[in-house]
Amino acid sequence: MKIDTHDLKRHPSVMILSLYAVLMFSFSAIAEELVDATAAYDTNNVFARILRGELPAKIVFENEYALAFHDIRPRANVHILIIPKGQFTNMMQFNAHANDMERLGFLDAISQTAKIMGVDESGFRLISNTGRDGGQTVAHLHVHLLGGEHVQ
Ligand code: 5GP
Repeated sequence: MKIDTHDLKRHPSVMILSLYAVLMFSFSAIAEELVDATAAYDTNNVFARILRGELPAKIVFENEYALAFHDIRPRANVHILIIPKGQFTNMMQFNAHANDMERLGFLDAISQTAKIMGVDESGFRLISNTGRDGGQTVAHLHVHLLGGEHVQ
């Protein structure tokens, strides 16, 4: 039987798959958009929406000043994000504007999270990507806590 490639392109399943591929490509392009280190705080970023309860998150620890939750795309056995509750885009803005209680609350959340996840003795890595060169994709200060294995 001769297959006409023109007909094949019009087949519904091929059209649906093509549409899916285009959508996935567009979504990944949006997700990878980088944050400017000097940008004003964007109240619609995903972590602001998690803080307002508009998006779900698997919460590990919370205090008055900070929240810790599982990263949606874990890159280690343990991959938790710790964020301050205040509106800070990155560490530079946090250091410039956070008050003492916000600083202590954020630091405490990091060490409490390490204990809760059972990595306080085995060790872990903290990363805070900042601005375009740092590869920051979410415009709310966050620290990645990675562990539970020898982190590469
Ligand atoms: P960045 O690239 O800015 O340092 O890290 C952003 C992190 O946020 C990424 O590791 C990404 O997987 C995570 N992330 C993005 N959107 C969501 C979300 O809606 N929920 C959670 N839990 N993590 C997210």
